[in-house]
Amino acid sequence: MILFRDARAPRLTALHRRLAASGLLLLLGAVGCGASASAMQPEPPEPRTLTLDDLARLDALLEEDSEEATAGFDRRAVVDVAALGLVLAFALVSFAKKSDRLKVVSLVLSVAYLGFVKASLVSVVDIFGAMRWSLPAFVDGQAYYLLVGFTLVSTVLWGRLYCGRICAFGALTQLMDRVVPARYRVEPPAWLDRRLMYVKYVVLGAAVLYVLAGGDTLVYRYIEPFWMFTLNGNAVMWTLLAVLLLATVFVRNLYCRYLCAVGAGLGLLSNLTVFRIKRWGECQTCKLCEKTCEWGAIDGPKILVSECVRCDDCERLYADEDTCPHWLIEKRAAAHAGR
Ligand code: SF4
Ligand code: SF4
Ligand code: SF4
Repeated sequence: MILFRDARAPRLTALHRRLAASGLLLLLGAVGCGASASAMQPEPPEPRTLTLDDLARLDALLEEDSEEATAGFDRRAVVDVAALGLVLAFALVSFAKKSDRLKVVSLVLSVAYLGFVKASLVSVVDIFGAMRWSLPAFVDGQAYYLLVGFTLVSTVLWGRLYCGRICAFGALTQLMDRVVPARYRVEPPAWLDRRLMYVKYVVLGAAVLYVLAGGDTLVYRYIEPFWMFTLNGNAVMWTLLAVLLLATVFVRNLYCRYLCAVGAGLGLLSNLTVFRIKRWGECQTCKLCEKTCEWGAIDGPKILVSECVRCDDCERLYADEDTCPHWLIEKRAAAHAGR
């Protein structure tokens, strides 16, 4: 589910105000009647009947109130879309520049804005919604469509860019990884890693079958931790989250690599990736990038596109003329030729 806090609130407020105004009129009428019945002295004044002018004025007031609320709603929707657009644009710039510093800023922005401010993440509930063709109306969900559209298009173009820097939970665990001392890390052996990475596909398949069989979509709360940004969970959910975050201290990006149903869905889609990571001939034997990849997405010379989140780490090495053996060999050859 993409959780947009109070996206529909202004319309409901206008409606509530109308109902409250009508309720107030009824209440005043009732109080007036009650008061006239109970007060014996002095003689109650003749109740004043509402004229057509009064009703027209009341209607104009309610209309004005509703227009104000709609304008407030439109302004808020524009601000939401603009703010989201800036976060996404910044992520794209950081990706294009291959800058580690800009990537960290992008991750912080995602956690702060898309996480704690908007609680807005692509969720398995969106997959359930798409299966049932139960999507929000465009007028109420421009920011929703912008985020989902960006996620789908960027995945087809570059791979799991959404996972690499937009998803607030993934960004949080990546930032955790930067502050947790390396000595606590446990790297699962490659044979185990290669098997565990399929668990997320099993989670996705099981969740989809469960919902297709009539199961409750609220199951999402127990298979993904994104609700944490709303700070709204029960004791079981908070306990599971604590266990997950503790485990993530030791095994980096554990949830993303092995358990995330959305990551599995995007992994399947990323098989269509148009602009893939380039490799040198030397990558056949060099293991530098494989050791650098925190996502277990390099197997020998091969990039596993479904696991790669376009974090840039191997691409920076690819271009590093002082570290990558390809460039070192080229430099040596050039030096020989110059002798
Ligand atoms: S794998 Fe899941 S939790 Fe991780 S970054 Fe992707 S969508 Fe977010
Ligand atoms: S460091 Fe260079 S040669 Fe080695 S795997 Fe990376 S890109 Fe390939
Ligand atoms: S290091 Fe390279 S292969 Fe690994 S996730 Fe990052 S971009 Fe993808």
